[in-house]
Amino acid sequence: MLYAQVVLPLAQPMYTFSFDEGLAVGVGDAVVVQFGSSRFYTGIVWSISPTKPDYPRIKPILRKLYSAPLLSTEAQRLWEWMAEYYMCTIGEVMRMALPSLAKPSASSLAELDERSIEPPMESFVALGEALRTEEALAEYVASHERRAPRRTRLLDSIALLALECRSEDGFVPRRLVDATAEQLADLRRRGLIVAEQRVVTRDGGGDKFLLPVLSDAQHRALQSIRAAHDEGRVALLHGVTGSGKTEIYIHLIAEQLARGGDVLVLVPEIVITSQLIERLERIFEGRTTTYHSRLTPLRRGQTFLRLALSCGGELVVGVRSSLFLPLHRGALVIVDEEHDPSYKQSDMQPRYNARDVAVVMGKMLGARVLLGSATPALESYVNALKGKYAYVELTERWGPSILPEVVVSDTIRAVKRGERKTHFNFDLLRLVRSSLEAGQQAILFQNRRGYAPYIQCRTCGYSPRCPHCNVTLTEHRTTRRMECHYCGYTMERPTVCPNCETQDITTMGFGTEKVEEEITRLFPEARVERLDGDTSTSERAFKRIVTRFERGEADILVGTQILTKGFDFGGVTTVGILNADNLLSTPDFRASERAFQLMMQVAGRAGRRNDRGRVVIQTSQPKHPVIRYVASGDYHAMARAELHERETFCYPPYAHLIRLLLSHEDYALLRYASHALAEALRKRFGARVMGPVSATVEMLRGEHRSEIMLKIESGASLAKARRLLREAMTVLEDDAKYKSVKLKVDVDAS
Ligand code: ADP
Ligand code: ZN
Repeated sequence: MLYAQVVLPLAQPMYTFSFDEGLAVGVGDAVVVQFGSSRFYTGIVWSISPTKPDYPRIKPILRKLYSAPLLSTEAQRLWEWMAEYYMCTIGEVMRMALPSLAKPSASSLAELDERSIEPPMESFVALGEALRTEEALAEYVASHERRAPRRTRLLDSIALLALECRSEDGFVPRRLVDATAEQLADLRRRGLIVAEQRVVTRDGGGDKFLLPVLSDAQHRALQSIRAAHDEGRVALLHGVTGSGKTEIYIHLIAEQLARGGDVLVLVPEIVITSQLIERLERIFEGRTTTYHSRLTPLRRGQTFLRLALSCGGELVVGVRSSLFLPLHRGALVIVDEEHDPSYKQSDMQPRYNARDVAVVMGKMLGARVLLGSATPALESYVNALKGKYAYVELTERWGPSILPEVVVSDTIRAVKRGERKTHFNFDLLRLVRSSLEAGQQAILFQNRRGYAPYIQCRTCGYSPRCPHCNVTLTEHRTTRRMECHYCGYTMERPTVCPNCETQDITTMGFGTEKVEEEITRLFPEARVERLDGDTSTSERAFKRIVTRFERGEADILVGTQILTKGFDFGGVTTVGILNADNLLSTPDFRASERAFQLMMQVAGRAGRRNDRGRVVIQTSQPKHPVIRYVASGDYHAMARAELHERETFCYPPYAHLIRLLLSHEDYALLRYASHALAEALRKRFGARVMGPVSATVEMLRGEHRSEIMLKIESGASLAKARRLLREAMTVLEDDAKYKSVKLKVDVDAS
């Protein structure tokens, strides 16, 4: 008997299960075990020992799934690191990292078997043993060419394919062989070829890719990145919008694939990146695998299994969770738009940041890591300044295109002078008109979906709030309802104030829906499209809007921050940022950095071809430093000023923030528990503890929420801080009263 420590996809420690040597179970294998009285789970074997642990009852491993291990030892180390760093169990990492169908669970074995899937397989063929050497084949061909020209030609073509596909054992996918089923069956009968079922490969295009010719600046950047990778360093590519970062990625990807290595391109959110995928697909046709949450569970499960069995040379483009797909040592990992907040998982354990995990993976898997952005996260920038990352800069756009001209338009002054119509200053309207008249396009950015952010009674000040989340409801004109943007609760829009019964209820602020309505009224002849969370609920709807705009079938595109994500629209010459004030005034220490990033990114959509673009920023604070940095496009000045602030107030990148989020239905109990925990923390961390305070969203789905923030300055040991934190957390676990309070830890909270 042997004993295996098995990780289950639960917030639980590992458990030991026994198995017979005959079962051939190894480390990293997926196995089926029974846990609890009536539940069957897929677990991962973490380690194996011959010594029987002294538990009274050890359950057996029931089955082994899949023919190969699901997890490499490097991936095991990465999961361990994540569990330690982000303060969760390895089981929680497993729950997140493996797609559901790759780790079936059920209430009976029969049900579990029914749910299990296999990796997608296909037939492969190879020349028979006797013909594997070149001489043997040549001899056979020479002697049979006359009598059976078709047969010898076919054998020749299989040998050639094997060379082209760099097949090590001579097997090539059947579908690439140009022959009928009868012809192949005939060859098999004669023992000239053999066939086998194997996992589906991606092999289109071989390694003869048609690559874009790089400019001198791009070429220099590429060489610096290569040099950094050869030294085992992470590279940060800071290239202004339109500088052609994608073209540099393409060269690196091609080199990596030609070496037979894997490539992972991480992108913020998949809908956002269909353009990038199309560009990569055009070059690496048939070779890209995409991975994101909108795929069916079957597709995701099969992709995972296929990659676990693949022998390399894979190109995967996907969202943050793709980081956990099986890749081989020495992979190339590109994190595009590395500053994007969606790389941080903030709603579930482990609350990881995919960019940071990619960097760690670089070390553990010996991967080459490239971070790319037009507006790098200050964390990455500081790492570059410190020399931890190689810093590679592209300061100019590719080709004739130059960066847009930025016009700062003072809203208060415009109102005073009567130069504003609804939400548009005349400065902006003029430029929109001139773009339209020249047959060009305009983009209007407002960081809020819906019609108006909220409605308010002018007599008593009442505005309807979500009964579950205590945030104001957003008005949606198309559905004529008020909606909670946290939980989705909706109610009919009141026409009479429920509080004072006057009819003085009016809309405050504005969202994209309202912008769309007003701009249509101002430019009735223009074709207007709207791109936001409401119009792009499906990938198809999203693509339709983007394609229409791309093809020039729409003139004006109104949208939220979806617009900031790397689009390459050729015809846009005017970009309007309708309300910069709300970007600058969010209650968040990252507000300035985020505002700068968002504005630079939307601005970057303007004038990407021959005509220079213009960007109008509407704001009541035209002298605000961030507005000035955007106007001059000076990232370094923004970074210097902002880093100074961060250092003064001890914020990231000069400190780690750890947020503790507590929640409970009973408000009083939650308060007592929060204070007890805060006190336990203060004993250990002193002034580094802030709170407890009500969470930004005080109530969510009927539960009250409070939070405590810990600031651990950069010099201090984070490992020690985590140990002290775990100690302090026992005040809740050990007290019967507080046991039901939910506590979640968010390391490197944002
Ligand atoms: P970024 O991702 O840095 O914003 P892109 O990679 O989208 O920039 O490039 C901007 C535009 O310039 C795209 O239309 C792209 O096709 C074009 N471009 C950039 N570099 C090259 C090149 N070397 N050859 C051909 N076109 C290029
Ligand atoms: Zn709600």
